[in-house]
Amino acid sequence: MAASNIAVTHAPSGVVEVAVSDAVRISPHFVRLTVAGEGLADWRHLGFDQWFRLAVPTAGDTRFDNLADTFDMAGYLRYLMLPKATRPVIRNYTVREFRPAELELDIDFVVHGDDGVAGPWASGLPLGASVALIDQGCGFRQADAERAEQVLLVGDESALPAVLGILRDLPRDARGQAIIEVPDLADRQHVDAPEGFDVHWIVRRPEQPAGRAALEHLQELSIPADSVYAFAAGESKLATGARRFLVNERGIAKRDISFCGYWRAH
Ligand SMILES: Cc1cc2nc3c(=O)[nH]c(=O)nc-3n(C[C@H](O)[C@H](O)[C@H](O)COP(=O)(O)OP(=O)(O)OC[C@H]3O[C@@H](n4cnc5c(N)ncnc54)[C@H](O)[C@@H]3O)c2cc1C
Repeated sequence: MAASNIAVTHAPSGVVEVAVSDAVRISPHFVRLTVAGEGLADWRHLGFDQWFRLAVPTAGDTRFDNLADTFDMAGYLRYLMLPKATRPVIRNYTVREFRPAELELDIDFVVHGDDGVAGPWASGLPLGASVALIDQGCGFRQADAERAEQVLLVGDESALPAVLGILRDLPRDARGQAIIEVPDLADRQHVDAPEGFDVHWIVRRPEQPAGRAALEHLQELSIPADSVYAFAAGESKLATGARRFLVNERGIAKRDISFCGYWRAH
């Protein structure tokens, strides 16, 4: 994970094996996979931006049964010791929606071309594939958000599931602003936000690096300096740039900002 100050919490559910039960291209740059299985009966449902390590199969005989239950340093070291031929690739994703009655969980994947593993794998609409999830908790701090008069959310498309999940799960009397940058107007999704929220969808121009347009929009926003809790996620320069701007130019305390680089542009 790129630069971040979010804390990880480990759930007792450990490695949850599921299978892809539905796969749909929902917009120009998004694929939604639904995963389902009995393993989700023990899923710790937190909502908001709850995220997990996703173990992606790389071959027909990829094994999930020898992964550690917690993906901390010890779990990661154990992972590195596993034979490369049969170990999965691990990436980070957000719970887009969890349906406990159906034991189903949706994941929205950014389709970002042929590079990498998880994005291209999801783009292939891998119905029936086995995957595993290891819960990591939420980066967004609900208690801090409830204490603040205003909540500020900033993200690019990789953080769209996080920002929309936070808006969906905030108390209905929460107030604030959200900026979500997408590559295409058609990548916008339905927003279920508290009434006191302004949601700004920003479409970046093709020549702009990811995150730049969101950062520029943030710089034009009127933000009350006191009693703000901010969450910034997405391409690393967006997450760190938003934090730097809010601290240096808007006087918001570092402790009132959660930020997380979700990916790094090369
Ligand atoms: C807490 C957390 C939650 C996340 N939730 C989600 C989520 O719900 N949905 C989601 O799509 N992503 C999410 N991400 C981001 C995701 O983990 C990364 O995009 C990851 O790099 C994708 O893996 P990959 O195998 O496709 O590409 P990688 O092998 O990691 O990278 C291959 C190449 O693709 C480029 N790349 C990677 N991601 C993107 C992107 N989004 N746009 C353009 N280029 C990219 C890289 O710069 C690199 O050049 C999350 C990240 C974190 C830390």
